[in-house]
This record gives sequence, structure tokens and C-alpha cells, in this order.
Amino acid sequence: MFDQFALHERLLKAVAELGFTEPTPVQVAAIPPAIEGRDLRVIAQTGSGKTAAFVLPLLNRLIGDAQPRVDVRALILLPTRELAQQTLKEVERFAQFTFIKSGIVTGGEDFKVQAAMLRKVPDILIGTPGRLIEHLNAGTLVLGDVEVVVLDEADRMLDMGFAEDVQRLVTACGDSHQTLLFSATSGGAGLRDMVAQVLKEPLHLKL
Ligand code: AMP
Repeated sequence: MFDQFALHERLLKAVAELGFTEPTPVQVAAIPPAIEGRDLRVIAQTGSGKTAAFVLPLLNRLIGDAQPRVDVRALILLPTRELAQQTLKEVERFAQFTFIKSGIVTGGEDFKVQAAMLRKVPDILIGTPGRLIEHLNAGTLVLGDVEVVVLDEADRMLDMGFAEDVQRLVTACGDSHQTLLFSATSGGAGLRDMVAQVLKEPLHLKL
């Protein structure tokens, strides 16, 4: 049952609406420590329910603190446009009973349209590293207020040559954010370096 988790009732309502009854193993393992604010390093496959495992704690944190903000509060980095689009849909389904707004920034889309969207400041920004760096460089994106960073499919982002971009984006998020890193494999030296650089005393979960 999802009500075993200390999630806001608006999120539990969305979970029920979506027809989810039992949490998957990665959700059971990751949701409680993520709600508590810990950094996580999770090895889990696509299809395991990992998206909900990071989206629900992330939304819970944004709902719980109603202070007005002027900049993006959560950043979800993914390797491809398709994954970013799927994740946006999942976030919007879980956020349907909240006022939390999400936006997406990926390559292959119009930069000016994205810049206009960013001026309206979504609470959650989902995107691919290359185009996000272009917005950071252009001054159309400010990340200093980001409280939660998710690196999804981190092993694939490294395989695609995004290590430096990911590092720069995470650094731009300031010092005190929570970081949740997901990968399908245990990865190589590049992933170990990234884990060491971006996570603070992480809990390691392998599902
Ligand atoms: P993911 O591994 O995040 O790509 O999720 C795989 C699919 O499982 C998605 O379509 C989710 O909406 C669905 N899903 C995730 N968690 C649950 C759950 N606890 N119960 C039923 N379906 C779920």
C-alpha cells in the first residue's frame, strides 16, 4: 500500500487515480530515505517503477514547502528527448492534484520557445544536458535555487559524453540540494567518479 509512505494526501490521491496499488521493490526501498532528504545512488532497470521512486519524494518536498520561489526548484536530467518526454508525462500525472508546474528542455526543439517557457519558471525542469547547458550559458536558465537534482540513466548520460555537462549543471545548483542518481548498471570508472563528485553520504540501493 502506498499509504505506508509519508506522502502528501494529494499525491496518494494521484497514485490511487493511476491505479497503482502496491509499490514496487525500488519504490519500497527508495521512497522513505528520499522523503527524509538523503542522497541516493540506485541501480534499477527501466520497468522497475524507478520513475515514481524519485518523482513522488520530489513532489512531496515541493508541496510541503509553500514558500514563494522565483526560480526552478527541481532538475531532472536524462540522456534522451524521448525519456524526457515520458518522464514529463509521469510527473504531470502524479502532480495532477497539486499546483506544481513542470517544463521540458531538450535538443531538437526551438530555443526561443524554450526560453519563453523558462521565463515563466516551472517548479520542475526536465531535460537533456546539452541543451540545458546552452540555456545556462545564454542566461535563460538559473539553477541556484534548485533543491533536488535527479540524474536518471546516469550510465547512459556518461556513454553519450555528457559527463562534463552534467557536472556543470549540478555545480550550478548550489551546495545544499539533494541528489538522486539512478542507473541501470553499476557502470565503470566514469560513473564511480560522478557518484563521488555529486553525491553526499549516499545510500546505495541495488534492486
Ligand atoms: P518505470 O520503471 O519508471 O519506467 O515504470 C514502468 C511502468 O510501470 C510505468 O508505466 C509506470 O507508470 C508503471 N508503474 C510504476 N510503479 C507502479 C506501481 N507501483 N504499480 C503499478 N504500475 C506502476
